[in-house]
Amino acid sequence: MILGIDLGTTHSLISYLKDGVPVVITNAHGEFLTPSVVSIDESGTLVVGATAKERLLKYPDSTVASFKRLMGSTTVVKLGKHEFKPEDLSALILRSLKADAEAELKHEVREVIISVPAYFNDQQRKATRLAGELAGLTVIQLLNEPTAAALFHGIQDRDTEAKFLIFDLGGGTFDVSILEKFDGIMEVHATGGDSFLGGDDFTQVLVDFFIQKMNLGGRQQKNAALLAAIRFAAESVKCKLSTQQQAEMSMLVNGVPKTLTISQETFEAQCKPLLDRLRAPIERALRDARLRSGDLDEVVLVGGATRMPIVRKLVAQLFARLPSRYIDPDQTIALGVAVCAGLRLRNEAFSEIVLTDVCPHSLGVRVSEEDGRGGWFRDVFLPIIERNTVIPASRVRTICTVADNQAQLTVDIYQGESRSCSNNVKLGSVTMTIPPKPAGQVSLSVRYTYDINGILDVDVVVDQTGTTSNLLIKELAGNVSDADIERRRLELAALKIHPRDQQENRLALERANRLYEQFLGYERQQVGDLLSRFTSILETQDVTVIGKARQELTQALDYLEQSW
Ligand code: AMP
Repeated sequence: MILGIDLGTTHSLISYLKDGVPVVITNAHGEFLTPSVVSIDESGTLVVGATAKERLLKYPDSTVASFKRLMGSTTVVKLGKHEFKPEDLSALILRSLKADAEAELKHEVREVIISVPAYFNDQQRKATRLAGELAGLTVIQLLNEPTAAALFHGIQDRDTEAKFLIFDLGGGTFDVSILEKFDGIMEVHATGGDSFLGGDDFTQVLVDFFIQKMNLGGRQQKNAALLAAIRFAAESVKCKLSTQQQAEMSMLVNGVPKTLTISQETFEAQCKPLLDRLRAPIERALRDARLRSGDLDEVVLVGGATRMPIVRKLVAQLFARLPSRYIDPDQTIALGVAVCAGLRLRNEAFSEIVLTDVCPHSLGVRVSEEDGRGGWFRDVFLPIIERNTVIPASRVRTICTVADNQAQLTVDIYQGESRSCSNNVKLGSVTMTIPPKPAGQVSLSVRYTYDINGILDVDVVVDQTGTTSNLLIKELAGNVSDADIERRRLELAALKIHPRDQQENRLALERANRLYEQFLGYERQQVGDLLSRFTSILETQDVTVIGKARQELTQALDYLEQSW
């Protein structure tokens, strides 16, 4: 069995095909969405998901969220005494999803397909694959998120022919894909996006606005707890503005209550630079697909951040029509990945569906070009496979020596769109020994072959001698050796984990602690009393009594939080 995983910036989900129908598996709290948050508590125990999210406010130094944005970078995140790379943190989320799936399916889970933003580059993809391996999973395939969404969307009404655009705005990334379905074929025509633009940036706009209006200046920079509290309030206001015309952002700043009322109009005006950034990838994807917005039959919104009316309004303006959002924006990708797993396993429910995809970024080599003044531009990117080429694809280009009697010629392989290689991502290089001859008289034929799994095969031939060389650039663990992966996997496995059967109690306690810190006066006292009562009931170790008390505590906290 292959499971599907949506490893999101804000939430992650695990899914599978149950009797030919894609379903999402619930976690230990009975929820489909597991917050992508990791925390290390005072005793050095690891907590992930909803419980860790509750700790963000009170323990910002030992809790981390939104680390998907760091994937592919060398950033190190310090949580308490421990240091983690972004792929370690993702591995901890994946491990928790694996445990949830194993609890549901009652057997070990190994093979998975993980979705990634279409716009993730090679380094970000490698980091995702590595995260899977560190979690003890075998990553069969990485699937572009909008392609997953389109797969799920496409199977709903599979006999109709349509061209549609998937607009996917998640917590940290923005992806757009243009697809066509006909005769059971799902063909991706173009993808585009911005892997550093998502709902979290809209929250940040509110954080900055609050800081500016309340004259908090540089003070918040030094105060992680205050910043976490502002972010928490901003996230809540952002979500309220999805259903209300205005919302109040209020909190205690150094013991003084501060309130800011924010209207839809103010929010929209503040977000204008972000809304403008959403336009360019859409326009580029349409151009790459050689379509106009009027040629599309449908625009489908995916991702939690598309709940914002200001985003829906922008989409309506851009496409002169109302977008469809009849599929659950939170689960669509995970359900689509389960469908993809079905395609891989040739599940009979999807036997007539064929999926084609495109490569999201251009792939090329570094070359030198004369600058017209007797010198050289040495960092020029020469594309071999251009972005949005249907994959699998194979293309060849010839490059020549630029100096007399060169003994070697190095093919540097890059991914990206910039004309300067230094702004693109380097994937590898191949050095060939060549016969010494005058400049321009030795040439190399460089063939790039890119397959559906994102593996790039580079073949280089010295045309004058027939010498060949081959380099396979896989989305594997990059330069990390198997021994290294195993060592890191064991290190992560050695972290003390909060027991799964006690996760619900822990969540209730963390939530009550958070609310105790947030509330004042009567409500604070109420939460304090509830906390003491629940803590003493926990000591009884009577599962039934504890379960009932937890339910009562949760209801009381719901009531207090709603009325606060
Ligand atoms: P996803 O990665 O698809 O789970 O999307 C997460 C993003 O959606 C986060 O930035 C959330 O703040 C945002 N989001 C979720 N619900 C809402 C809502 N009701 N209104 C505005 N943004 C939301």
